[in-house]
Amino acid sequence: MDFGLTDEQDMLRATARQFVADVCPAEKAKQWDEEGVVPPELFRGMAELGWFSLPFSEEEGGDGGGPLELILIAEELGRASFDVAMCYIGVLIPGITVFRWGTEAQREFIRKQVMTGRHRLAVGLSEPDSGSDAAALRTTAEDHGDHFLVRGQKAWCTGGGLPDTTIATYVRTGSREPKHGGISLLLVDPSTDGVEVRRTPTLARHILGTNEVFFNDALVPKENLVGPRDEGWKVMLSNIELEKVIITGGYLGAAQATLDEMLEYARTRHAFGRPIGNFQALAHAMADLQTEIDSARLLAYRAAWLLAQGKPCTREGSMAKLKGSETYVAAARLGMQVCAGHGFSTESVMSFRYRESIVATISGGTSQIQRNGIARSMGLRSY
Ligand SMILES: Cc1cc2nc3c(=O)[nH]c(=O)nc-3n(C[C@H](O)[C@H](O)[C@H](O)COP(=O)(O)OP(=O)(O)OC[C@H]3O[C@@H](n4cnc5c(N)ncnc54)[C@H](O)[C@@H]3O)c2cc1C
Repeated sequence: MDFGLTDEQDMLRATARQFVADVCPAEKAKQWDEEGVVPPELFRGMAELGWFSLPFSEEEGGDGGGPLELILIAEELGRASFDVAMCYIGVLIPGITVFRWGTEAQREFIRKQVMTGRHRLAVGLSEPDSGSDAAALRTTAEDHGDHFLVRGQKAWCTGGGLPDTTIATYVRTGSREPKHGGISLLLVDPSTDGVEVRRTPTLARHILGTNEVFFNDALVPKENLVGPRDEGWKVMLSNIELEKVIITGGYLGAAQATLDEMLEYARTRHAFGRPIGNFQALAHAMADLQTEIDSARLLAYRAAWLLAQGKPCTREGSMAKLKGSETYVAAARLGMQVCAGHGFSTESVMSFRYRESIVATISGGTSQIQRNGIARSMGLRSY
């Protein structure tokens, strides 16, 4: 068993760490969040470093990076904020899905537009009445000759309101019984007549922003169908483990940065004539937190290793997502206690971590849904 990184992986991590220090330190990420700014330098920088093409093979125009390389980038970006990490992951995952299942024209679009950072993708799966039970989606796409006529509503479409973005939209093209059948993936240009994107006000994650998307008889060309018609559920599932593993990288980075920030505060803030970090009550809590973060990291790296070997990792991916997201929430909660009044001021980075962390156990599949998957893998029945 080898727990070390290769020289190339070490170098990638160092490059990503420097990128965050130069382009998006946590204070900057907080400012972007507060101002709702979409930073072009962030997307441009990631594209220039070749990160959007990293997981594709060299013949496909990429660099052949594996899941661990993607986690390392996500981890470093997560140190800025999870939202910053999602600026990368949220484009990368649908890009991989479309490239895997798409037509030659769609693959060319990914190569020329998405891998180069000129264009983004967002995902429209959830709906107002279907989140965890995503296959219960009701947005329909009726066959109208060379187009689909799309009607319905999506919710929580993150990044779907940004310029130069295509929404990878899961729609019902077939029967609702069984619910996992009859679903297809369509690429939708949000400027299409009949499509309206409306920003949802949220506690955090304001860089990408999340949106409701309304489809009022929108005509979408048939050539925008990705993968086999009525098999969209299979298309969606094809990258779900990779998504869980990479977003865990984002949580890990955010949790580690949160711990580093509270440690720094605990070393410099004095009470009763000594640094507050010397009080055993705080020191043990921070020691426990580092242990939790390391556990989450090991779970994520194990799942990445399994994925790289082409082995199943449904259980391990869910464990990583569960532990990583819960640990970020716990880190921010402890950070608020350690930083106390200073943390409660909205000028502090810790207050930003606290505000942002709370949704980690919800988006990307809730903690309960991850536990259901783990329980199912143990032979226990769950829904
Ligand atoms: C910031 C943010 C970004 C998001 N980005 C996207 C995106 O880009 N694209 C997209 O399609 N979606 C996105 N989502 C949607 C996200 O996937 C859903 O919010 C999530 O799956 C939970 O769905 P829900 O909010 O409808 O909660 P519900 O499914 O209504 O769940 C409510 C509660 O019931 C629990 N619950 C539900 N079913 C079970 C069960 N079987 N067993 C035990 N407990 C259960 C849940 O865990 C939760 O605690 C995003 C959400 C957020 C908040």
